[in-house]
Amino acid sequence: MATVPLIAPSEELREELRARGGTSAARCFQCATCSAVCDLAPDGRPFPRREMLMAQWGLADQLMADPAVWLCHQCNDCTARCPRDARPGDVLQVVRSLVIERLAFPRSLGRFVANVRTTWPVLLGAPLLLWVLLLGLTGHLGVPAHLVSWEEVVPHWMIYSVFFPVTLLVMAAAGVSARRFWVLLGSTGPPRKGSLPVALGAVAAELVTHRRFGCCETARPRRWGHLALVWGFVGAAVTSGLLIVALYGFHMELPLPLTHPFKILGNLSAVALLVGTAILVVERLKDPDRVGRTTAFDTFFLVVVALVVLTGTLVEVARLTLPAAVGLPMYVVHLSLVLTLFATFPYSKFAHMLYRTLALAHERMTRENDQPPDPTD
Ligand code: SF4
Ligand code: SF4
Repeated sequence: MATVPLIAPSEELREELRARGGTSAARCFQCATCSAVCDLAPDGRPFPRREMLMAQWGLADQLMADPAVWLCHQCNDCTARCPRDARPGDVLQVVRSLVIERLAFPRSLGRFVANVRTTWPVLLGAPLLLWVLLLGLTGHLGVPAHLVSWEEVVPHWMIYSVFFPVTLLVMAAAGVSARRFWVLLGSTGPPRKGSLPVALGAVAAELVTHRRFGCCETARPRRWGHLALVWGFVGAAVTSGLLIVALYGFHMELPLPLTHPFKILGNLSAVALLVGTAILVVERLKDPDRVGRTTAFDTFFLVVVALVVLTGTLVEVARLTLPAAVGLPMYVVHLSLVLTLFATFPYSKFAHMLYRTLALAHERMTRENDQPPDPTD
């Protein structure tokens, strides 16, 4: 006798979708218009009609393990064309936030960041309090009369003693979530073939150009915003790495002149981050319907990125033009915002970087040879 697959609907999932604004899924009547208009859905594996059905039925396990949820770039072509206003683009966005929360390690932190509507004062305030306490306890809270470098007040050892352990903890937490997601992805669908590093290499090439965004007409303006952010973050990370090597390997003196190559790279990265943030904010304000329903979860990430970029730029300007009494508090606020961004990586929308990369690698490794080529290839 053939085995009948066990379907276990989750009332909890339906409740959570409702709580996060995914109620519109209930209106879907499976006409498949959304899958037909989605430029990113491969012919052999169309989405998001199937995912809408899973959301309606509360099929939590299937939705969590579905890579298509992460292949969507939320252009909302499907939402604009849906005859039932079921808002599939928004529903997939809600599912992504749910996956991030459920696979978080520890789960309580995932829940804490997911509830950002009420927890944002802690998420922003705790890192600031930490810096103020550290400065107070080490006698660095005052502003010297003749300040040459921020390092005189916020020494490098203090910065590293905060960021190194936080980075290690964040990497460990992200590693656990990545492992859980990878296992989930492999639990359904066709088996994976080939090697993960090769697939990741191909995905990295895709991410640095954001080629998929180019396939999706409506999302094209956002492609440049995302691209500028990605390159801005890469530039900032490379600059920080170079500075650490130069400081401790070659005893380089700070602050660097504006014409120093590291400074130029850092400033170009800041410009890329500013431009990327501005594009994304303008796109969101210009046509909110196109971008989709804005949740506190999305807004928090975008606001923190915008504040990091803004305070970083202001700190640089303040260092050259304003008194230390103005610039220094700004610098401490900047450090605390960077800490918030870093520490929430596995739990905020920042984690899209992790989950989307793995979903894309999984998709490459499971693509059948006899399937039609992916529209983004
Ligand atoms: S979400 Fe809308 S377009 Fe898609 S299948 Fe349901 S009713 Fe049709
Ligand atoms: S939002 Fe855009 S990419 Fe996502 S499923 Fe809809 S049409 Fe496809």
